[in-house]
Amino acid sequence: MATCNADPASLSCSVTNVIAPSLPLYSKTYRETTVIHLPYNISISHNTLSIIAGPCSIESEEQIMATAEFVKQAGASILRGGAFKPRTSPYAFQGMGIQGLQLLRKAGDYYKMPIITEVLDTEDIPLVGEYADILQVGARNCQNFSLLRKLGKIKKPVLLKRGMMVTIKEFLMAAEYILAEGNENVILCERGIRTFETETRNTLDISAVPVLKQKTHLPVIVDPSHAAGNWKLIHPLALAALAAGADGLMIECHIKPESALCDGEQSLRPDKFALLMEDVKKISTMLNKKLDCI
Ligand code: PEP
Ligand code: MN
Repeated sequence: MATCNADPASLSCSVTNVIAPSLPLYSKTYRETTVIHLPYNISISHNTLSIIAGPCSIESEEQIMATAEFVKQAGASILRGGAFKPRTSPYAFQGMGIQGLQLLRKAGDYYKMPIITEVLDTEDIPLVGEYADILQVGARNCQNFSLLRKLGKIKKPVLLKRGMMVTIKEFLMAAEYILAEGNENVILCERGIRTFETETRNTLDISAVPVLKQKTHLPVIVDPSHAAGNWKLIHPLALAALAAGADGLMIECHIKPESALCDGEQSLRPDKFALLMEDVKKISTMLNKKLDCI
């Protein structure tokens, strides 16, 4: 039998017990709306439509600059790109790391777009927070409570993706971990859940959008790319998400999807993204929601 001789007083691990507020901080009764303020006068809120677009991963300076140019021109306001990638296989491309962050920042600054990128680990928060305007928590980390707690201690906005096996209630409680530590800038992202269906990578839970909008003041955006896993389904699912009340979209795009290092099969080419944006503009007029781009 293993024995442990460590002196408990010398151990650095600690448990955080937070006193529960009378109402969950995510609830509509606690607060009516949340507006996320970003650089370049961009915001994410219930009365705007925010389009986040960009490649799955930053691959090179040429790729991210060219992508930023076409997504901005088509009407996207926020640039995405992964520098630290949560890949199913440890042998798959894991991202460019700090070099990727620098290239994304360069593209964002040049095209005047706030940038969003994923943070995988608590120890990377200071580095990612130095470059990114929004820190993304991926589906696989949705219930990584120590990561969520640490993100609650920073001021920068956090986009929390719904885990593929996470119920709406659990999703909201995951957001509560960030709010409970004092960071009020949380954006929720529905990105598909795992079901028995195999025709799509995951099943986009459209009903989560109106349910979340009824339960929380936090902005809700939808990522049809990771839900569908197939570029041909992105356009209809994106429109359905906006019709259901989403405050924005996250869309994967690539200048040359066939040579993408990650998720090329679900990435829109420039012409397809421009077509989608034509419809997004029509819907934004119908919904009387300003398309938040400059
Ligand atoms: C991503 O947005 O790059 C990503 C990995 O998405 P998800 O966490 O939803 O799978
Ligand atoms: Mn991806």
